[in-house]
Amino acid sequence: MINYEALFKISYGLYIVSSGSKTYGNGFISNTVFQVTSQPPRFAACCSKENHTAEVISSTGYFSVSVLHSEADAGIIGRFGYKSGKDLNKMEGMELKFGESGVPIVLNDAIAFLECKVVETYDVGTHLMFIGELLQADVLDDSKEALTYLYYRQVKKGVAPKNAPTYVDKTKLQKKSTDQEFNRYECAACGYIYDEEQEGKKFDELPDDWVCPVCGSEKDDFFKL
Ligand code: FE
Repeated sequence: MINYEALFKISYGLYIVSSGSKTYGNGFISNTVFQVTSQPPRFAACCSKENHTAEVISSTGYFSVSVLHSEADAGIIGRFGYKSGKDLNKMEGMELKFGESGVPIVLNDAIAFLECKVVETYDVGTHLMFIGELLQADVLDDSKEALTYLYYRQVKKGVAPKNAPTYVDKTKLQKKSTDQEFNRYECAACGYIYDEEQEGKKFDELPDDWVCPVCGSEKDDFFKL
């Protein structure tokens, strides 16, 4: 048997992985960036084949990683994690710097960054795994903690989008009994669930300018479960 809850015990960080050039760039939220060798320093980053960034990394051969801090804005996770670069220029209005290769590096809510040159690409099924050799890395803010996937899930109540390698279908999780008096509302953009019982407040009583704490979507984007 597979208890999918066990998969949430694996620890990860949360990063913006970007690629492109000075004139065009795209990026996505990844929780699967990790160092795979130290001599030379190489990093793996997994990207869904359906993700526009996969095409951009494949064509340019470079990617950057921005390490987000634990209080990173929900809007930035929404922008990079739940929207497609096919519909929106995600880099527009972002605070950017460009790497040695010209790859864009997102500085908003970042405490460190890496720039990598792709040396191998593995087809792992639904995703491509890019192995990148480190070109440069630096710390941007030493005063904040890095955002971990566990913190995002437990404190920020975030969920993995469908394209994430660690996505778990909710129907596979054991259902907890629910009190009929309280309702639950789901964010159509990111899947975050507002649980009235847990929050101690009815969804309807939330102010009109309330937004999804995970992706920044408006109240109207929620539907009742
Ligand atoms: Fe959301």
